[in-house]
Amino acid sequence: MKDFELKVKLYGVRGSYPIAPENGTKYGGNTTCLLARTSNHVVIIDAGSGIIKLGKELIPEILEYKKNTGQSFHITLLFTHTHYDHLLGLPFFAPVYMPDVHMHFIGPATLGVDLEQILRNTVTPQYFPVSMDEFRSGKSFANLNENMFIYFDHSNPEPQFGHVSKDEIPEDALSIETMKYYFHPKDGSYPFKITWNDQSIVFATDVEAYVGGDHRLINFARNADVLIHDAQYTLEQYKNFAGYGHSSYAMACDTAKQANVKKLLLFHHDPNNSDEVLEKIRSEAKKLFEHSELASEKWELVL
Ligand SMILES: [Zn+2]
Ligand SMILES: [Zn+2]
Repeated sequence: MKDFELKVKLYGVRGSYPIAPENGTKYGGNTTCLLARTSNHVVIIDAGSGIIKLGKELIPEILEYKKNTGQSFHITLLFTHTHYDHLLGLPFFAPVYMPDVHMHFIGPATLGVDLEQILRNTVTPQYFPVSMDEFRSGKSFANLNENMFIYFDHSNPEPQFGHVSKDEIPEDALSIETMKYYFHPKDGSYPFKITWNDQSIVFATDVEAYVGGDHRLINFARNADVLIHDAQYTLEQYKNFAGYGHSSYAMACDTAKQANVKKLLLFHHDPNNSDEVLEKIRSEAKKLFEHSELASEKWELVL
């Protein structure tokens, strides 16, 4: 048994593209990746460049699991959407080349194209030395929509699916609910709510809030323990980038306040923003919502 029940950890917090600033960055240069795991389940949200480090960390555990059980190690990889910055780490994620792994890819179809096709189109010899068929792991694919929820039973390593209007989320399960957020070009993105033992973490990246807040997202995030929200821009920057599908820190604070969350993590940092700018964002955000923090690759929460 591990010394945690649920661990949530950020491996990538940067928006748009990865950066390696000359003077480094305390907060991290990798694009979106979040790990949520129990002793039995490994769930990853988004395959930005942050997933590469996570993949390397998982290798010893995968080998050990195979040795002890003789079974495949299941990994669920969920996508909020499939823009490059949420996808580019996938072909460098070491577990996909391990035959003792089974990957469950779950994410939205986009503009009518299934998730499986989107992923296969990306990992193909025109863009990368191997195609997805050469991944040695087992693979399952599922399109995601907002009528579904995903849950994980203690006894079953595979993700289970429920329908929001027909099924109850089983007690004691790790559950993940979603909604479609429309204001992100061109076919939206999917915030996720991870719930475990009555505690919840809402992950809402690549969302552009409306003036006064988006009520569907506010309801979705209501009373969450942690809200991780897109906060790509300063107020000045937002003036030039309204409509690009990202929020200013003030929009993130507005949603956090109205949703009455306990903590806000400002996420999807603009690659042009230095640590100095990010720290300015943090101090301004704290004036609007006291429990605001900058998301960083060091952030983790153990429940
Ligand atoms: Zn993004
Ligand atoms: Zn995006």
